[in-house]
Parts: sequence; structure tokens; C-alpha cells
Amino acid sequence: MSKVLLITGASRGIGAETARLAAAHGYSLCLNYLHNEAAASELLKALTAGGHDAIMFQADVSIESEVEAMFRAIDRDLGRLDGLVNNAGILEPQSDLVDMSPARWQRILETNVIGSFLCAREAIKRMSTQHGGKGGSIVNLSSRAADLGAAHEYVDYAAAKGAIDAMTIGLANELGDQGIRVNAVKPGLIYTDIHADGGEAGRVDRLKSGVPMQRGGLPVEVAEAILWLLSDASSYTSGSFIDVSGGR
Ligand code: NAP
Repeated sequence: MSKVLLITGASRGIGAETARLAAAHGYSLCLNYLHNEAAASELLKALTAGGHDAIMFQADVSIESEVEAMFRAIDRDLGRLDGLVNNAGILEPQSDLVDMSPARWQRILETNVIGSFLCAREAIKRMSTQHGGKGGSIVNLSSRAADLGAAHEYVDYAAAKGAIDAMTIGLANELGDQGIRVNAVKPGLIYTDIHADGGEAGRVDRLKSGVPMQRGGLPVEVAEAILWLLSDASSYTSGSFIDVSGGR
């Protein structure tokens, strides 16, 4: 029987590429999205046309009732959950912290941190052996920004990803005897639309000369690391981080 996987923020970028790779590995998928229904349904159509088992579900990961409804839809339509990729994330326009508003910090923390907490909580209820589940794997999308700090760009986002790092370690410890492994991937400069949301669509090309490998990364290169952490190939790996950053 195929494994059931929820990928948040699967309409585009790293989430969409992870969905394509996971489908190729035989997972049954729930593709979560927020605004971009057209992209999510195009991806769903392509996957189901290829014979893959998938549903899509619109939910804001930072809203408890929407997350709970999404997990109920997975229970009903796909069956017992085996994995979660906490991928949904947002940036706000580049700025020094001195010019940022509390409203912005709230948005950044709600999606990037609370969203991952809510999805992890619902996944644990279904996967933990203490709750009658059969175990599973959670992969969190952190960022190299958590280590570099993102000065003059988005210290708030970097701090939110720092929270994800602490959550990854804490949950790995909390769930180690409940059959759930928790790990994170830390992408560097990856070609996706997120940089345009930060106000600089060409950011990866501007900064790539500072990457030892002298290039930006592709979403599929991040997806490969996520798939390994989800799979039984990483069965003794928990509380770990994989940098996918060309050495930067
Ligand atoms: P992206 O292309 O901007 O895509 C973001 C995805 O998240 C979209 O599918 C979006 O859905 C979804 N999303 C945003 N807010 C949401 C919410 N509240 N509820 C549900 N879905 C929501 O981003 P990406 O570059 O692929 O990034 C994916 C993850 O990797 C993020 O966590 C990001 O922080 C992390 N990351 C990226 C980079 C990079 O260089 N790209 C580097 C380090 C870390 P809609 O399209 O439907 O709105």
C-alpha cells in the first residue's frame, strides 16, 4: 500500500517539486495550497493523469480550524498519514528590522512557525504509536537564513526559521520513542517565486557569486533531500539537518 504524505504549500516552488518527486516514489499525496488554486489544480491534474493518487486542499496553515479540516479530509480520502512536509512559508519585502512593524512579524511567525506547529500537532495525533498510529516522518523546511541571519533583508524570517530548527530538535527528542522521526532541510539560494515576494525576483543571481558552487539551486535539488528524509533509507536519522545550499 502506498504511503500517505501531506505537503504544505505544494502549489509551486519547492513544495510542487517535492510533490512531483514523491508521486514518482509512489506516495499518495495531499497538495495543500493557499491562494494559487490554478497552479495546484494543474499539478493535481498532471499527477492524476499519470496514475498517481492525490487530492488538493486549500487551507491557511496558520489557522487551526482550516488545518484540522485538511487533516480530516486526508483521513477520509487518502487514509492513515505516514508523512508531513512542513513546507509552506512566506517572506515579506526586504527591510532592516528598525523599519518593520509588529503586524509583519505576526504574519511571518504565524505562517512560518505556528503553521508548522499546527500541522505537526495534527500529524503526531495520527502517526504517533502512543496515539495508536504506526509512526512516520516529519520534514521541516528551515533555511540557511537561520544560521546567516539575513541582515538588511529579513531578520524576522531568519528568526522564524531558527524557531523551526529548535522545534525540529525538540520534536525529534519528544517523538523518538513514538515511531516518528523529525528532520529539517536548510535550503540556500533556490530559484523560486519567494524572492519576488521579498521584492527582488533576481536575488539568487545577484548573490550566486558568493556561493562556493557559483550557482543557485533548483527546487528539485531540495526535493531530493526531503524525499530521502521521508524514506526508510534515513531510518536512523532524526533531529538532523541537511544544508542544500551549494556550500553557502
Ligand atoms: P514559494 O515558491 O513562495 O511557495 C510558497 C508556497 O507556500 C506556495 O505554495 C504558497 O501557496 C504556500 N503558502 C504560503 N503561505 C501559506 C499558508 N499560510 N498556508 C498554506 N500555504 C501557504 O516558496 P519556496 O521558495 O518554494 O519555499 C518553500 C519553503 O522553503 C519555505 O518554507 C521557504 O521558507 C523555504 N526556503 C526557500 C528558499 C528559497 O531560496 N526558495 C530558501 C530557504 C528556505 P499559494 O501559492 O497557494 O499561495
